[in-house]
Amino acid sequence: MENNKEMRAWLDDLNLNHPLVIAGPCSAETEEQVLKIAHDLKDTDVSYFRAGIWKPRTRPGNFEGVGALGLKWLQKVKAETGMKVCTEVANAAHVKLALEHDIDMLWIGARSTVSPFIMQEIADALEGTDNPVLIKNPVNPDLALWLGGIERIYASGVKNIGAIHRGFSTYEKTKYRNNPEWQMAIEFQNKFPDIPLINDPSHITGKRDMVFDVCQTALDLNFDGLMIETHFDPDNAWSDAAQQVTPSTLVQIMRDLKVKKEGDAEAEYNSKLNNLRAQIDVIDNQIIDMLGKRMQASDGIGQLKKDRNVAVLQSKRWNEILGRMVLEGEQHGLSEEFILKMFKAVHQESINHQEKIING
Ligand code: PEP
Ligand code: MN
Repeated sequence: MENNKEMRAWLDDLNLNHPLVIAGPCSAETEEQVLKIAHDLKDTDVSYFRAGIWKPRTRPGNFEGVGALGLKWLQKVKAETGMKVCTEVANAAHVKLALEHDIDMLWIGARSTVSPFIMQEIADALEGTDNPVLIKNPVNPDLALWLGGIERIYASGVKNIGAIHRGFSTYEKTKYRNNPEWQMAIEFQNKFPDIPLINDPSHITGKRDMVFDVCQTALDLNFDGLMIETHFDPDNAWSDAAQQVTPSTLVQIMRDLKVKKEGDAEAEYNSKLNNLRAQIDVIDNQIIDMLGKRMQASDGIGQLKKDRNVAVLQSKRWNEILGRMVLEGEQHGLSEEFILKMFKAVHQESINHQEKIING
């Protein structure tokens, strides 16, 4: 799959002067709930109304969605409000039913993108549709899996494509429900600058009071749009209660967000700055990771020296390393002074590790 401007035609054709907004409840619960939220969102920046009707739940025993019945409610939303509608599909039967009920746009959830079998089944069912299809990132931070899913959909003739960044699950608890791993989104944009990239701050944060900041970061990073879960009574929502915002909060969020306009020098500056800072954060993490690995190798050497009863400090070897690194550093624009300082610190840490091992 090559980057291709046609993929974003569906978005460009909307001629928006603001980021694309997709909003609506996590789940369609009742006809009244769906219609009330839709009417509350009708005269806002929202272009697409969302509601999940088949709900993938991590554990069984929770509300699993109203099913095909909800498609009729979405048709009513279209008829009564003029908004376009979208829902999640997770197998060929869902695709067939959704297209039969004139659902304008479909999205594929994070738990489906992980499975090439499911993605192929969905891709086959979508063959040739003109409706836009948005592919959420897989639950695990694997760019190839995300791109592979998109490629399967694209290869079946779906030309109107988009991607949704909804964050990645982690074993360790963080302040996010799903860690954004912004560098993955940046890499995605670098590879496919013309695939519309939509941020889903609701599933990233899991908490409504963090939604605004994630929206702002996404816009600073040049995302094309936002998908925000919205409910008139979030606390009593049947799924994802903690992360949904009310329609009036959504309007306020859209008002407060700094959106980059053509020729807006400050926004341009912020966007470039944030993009570069995100890159630096990624590289700093890589440096720490590499240093950790270097010390592990050093521990191994410490063990060998201990077994052989050899001294820790071996100046000849060390001078060779330093000489090589000074030359290498020069080629990367790094001064001799910096290389010497840095490698002396690395060497000292290495000696400390080895001494610890040798002295038990
Ligand atoms: C959803 O959008 O409600 C949803 C289930 O999202 P995800 O696939 O990102 O978990
Ligand atoms: Mn949800």
